[in-house]
Amino acid sequence: MQQGIKIHTLKKIIIAIDGYSSCGKSTLAKALSKKLHYAYVDTGAMYRAVTLYFLDNNINLDDEYDVKNALEQLEVHFERIEGKNTTFLNGNNVENEIRSMRVSDAVSQVAAISEVRRAMVRQQKMMGKRKGVVMDGRDIGTVVFPDAELKIFLTAEPETRVQRRYDELKQKGESIDISEIRKNLSERDRIDTSRSDSPLRKADDALVLDNSKLNEQEQLEIALNWTLALKDSVTQGIS
Ligand code: C5P
Repeated sequence: MQQGIKIHTLKKIIIAIDGYSSCGKSTLAKALSKKLHYAYVDTGAMYRAVTLYFLDNNINLDDEYDVKNALEQLEVHFERIEGKNTTFLNGNNVENEIRSMRVSDAVSQVAAISEVRRAMVRQQKMMGKRKGVVMDGRDIGTVVFPDAELKIFLTAEPETRVQRRYDELKQKGESIDISEIRKNLSERDRIDTSRSDSPLRKADDALVLDNSKLNEQEQLEIALNWTLALKDSVTQGIS
């Protein structure tokens, strides 16, 4: 890693991280934002919060009016609680609930609805207006910030992703069958890549990072080096 650079004094940029489910996007995004003193936006959490609201209020996904009306009734924001990025839905802390299997099983169907995407993307664009943000999701480099200075497309072998997700849930005390996780991840990837509105795909100018055989520190070092190399050229260009 490049030494002696005061990271927080460099020009602020937008870092977009996209990829399949459970690739470790949020782990990398959080670590990167901490290191760079940037804001972190977990866009998956926003779609999850919307899904929780739709489930709890029996919203009919095929009814445009119902969906539109529901979107007007909900507000999602993030707060830092005990140093952790925490999701709020209409003023309630829903951080744990949005990670449940109930939400995971329904989120990709909800996220495929154009009306839902429009509302979320509008909010995400506002969050990145002042730059200095790391945002992770499925369409950040292609739709939300097509001009992001750095785009990373994260990948990992399917079984590595299943195992990581299983370990994460186990650590949280959830007892879930590993085959259920395997099914959920492949189904979400299928819906996310095949939906007609902003499907998950690598932006043409995104850098691919396969972290199957990397630990958290190693993947952070690679991403940081990409960031600093880029910012070097930006600052050299200015001086
Ligand atoms: O990132 P996470 O796995 O929590 O995202 C949950 C779901 O939200 C994804 O499977 C996808 O369907 C949807 N999503 C999306 N666009 C984003 C972020 C998430 O469609 N930018």
